[in-house]
Amino acid sequence: MSGIRSTGFLHLGNYFGAIRNYVRMQDEYECYFMVADVHSLTTHPDTKELKPNVHRVLAENVACGLDPEKVALYCQSHLYETGELYMYLNMLAYKGELEKTTTFKDKARQHPENVNAGLLTYPVLQAADILLHRATLVPVGKDQEQHLEMSRNFANRFNHRYGDVFPEPYAFNFGEQLIKVPSLDGKGKMSKSENQYATIYLSDEDDMIRKKIMKAKTDAGPTEPGTPMPDYIENIFLLMKLVSSNEVLDKFLDDYNRAVIRYGDMKKQLAEDMVVFVRPIREKAEAIRNDQKYLRDIMEAGAEKARKRAAETMEKVREAIGLKYY
Ligand code: ATP
Ligand code: MG
Repeated sequence: MSGIRSTGFLHLGNYFGAIRNYVRMQDEYECYFMVADVHSLTTHPDTKELKPNVHRVLAENVACGLDPEKVALYCQSHLYETGELYMYLNMLAYKGELEKTTTFKDKARQHPENVNAGLLTYPVLQAADILLHRATLVPVGKDQEQHLEMSRNFANRFNHRYGDVFPEPYAFNFGEQLIKVPSLDGKGKMSKSENQYATIYLSDEDDMIRKKIMKAKTDAGPTEPGTPMPDYIENIFLLMKLVSSNEVLDKFLDDYNRAVIRYGDMKKQLAEDMVVFVRPIREKAEAIRNDQKYLRDIMEAGAEKARKRAAETMEKVREAIGLKYY
C-alpha cells in the first residue's frame, strides 16, 4: 500500500522513490495505491486545482507502467472507512509525538498561518490508509521513514489494547536503502510543493529539462586526484546513476577521480539522458489525462476493490474495540 498527494506535478523523486516500486510489485503482490487527496488538504486548502491534480497523479502513475487492472488504484476520499479508522487511531496517538514529527515541524515552519490539526495528525491519517488494508509493505521514499515508524507504533498500540488486528507495516524498497532524490540546488529533496526550479517533473518539456540540469550547482572541479566529493556534485552523480548507462556513469566517475572532469559536459550528457527518460512518460501521461472516461473508470474500479478490503478490516476493528452492543 502506498499513496501520493495530489499537490502538483509528479517528479523524479516520486518516480524513483515510489512509483518504480509500485510497478515492480504489481505482479507479485496484492497492491493498493491511492491518490492522497485528503492529505493534500493539510497544506493545500484551496481546491481550485484539486481535480486536475488528482487526474494528473492517476495519469502519471499509469504512464509510468502501473496497471489499474492489476492493482487497486483509487482516491483516498472515496474510502469513507479511512475516516472511521483515523478517528479510532487518533485516540492512540499522543500530542507530544505528533509535534515532534519532522514533517510537521517543517510544514509548520513553512506555513505558520495554517498549522491545522490535520497537519498535526497527518501521520495518523497515513497510518489509517495503510492499516485499513492490513498492509505490510509500503513502497515509499526516504522522507517517509519516520511516518512508517509511527504507523507501526499505532498498530502495536491498537493490538496491545484491543487485540491483534494489524500486522506491522514497513517502508519497502526490495531490501535496498530507501531513496531520496535530491533537488538540483543541493537543498533538500525534489518535491511537488517546494523547489520548483530545482525539481525535474515527469511533465517537463525537453528544453525545460536541459535548462534545469544545466543550472544545477557545480564548481571549478577537483584540482587533484582523490579530492572528496562535495554533496551537490554527489547529487549530480546520483541523478546520473538513475537515468544514464553504467558506461557513462563510470566515465565521469573516472574523470572525477583523475581530477579532469568537465561538469559542463557531464551536465549535457545527463540532460540528454534525462530527456530520453522523461519524454515517453510525459507523452503517455498527457494522452491519459485527456481521456476523462478512462480516468473515471480507473477511480471507480479502484475504489470498489479497496472498499472490499477496507470493509473486512473495519469489521475486525469494531469488534476488537468492543463497538458491538447486540
Ligand atoms: P509534497 O511536496 O506535496 O509533499 P512530495 O513530492 O513530497 O509532494 P508526496 O506525495 O508527499 O510527494 O510523496 C509521494 C511519494 O514520493 C512518497 O513515497 C515519498 O516518499 C516519495 N518522494 C517524494 N519526494 C521524493 C524524493 N525527492 N525522493 C524520493 N522519494 C520521494
Ligand atoms: Mg511530501
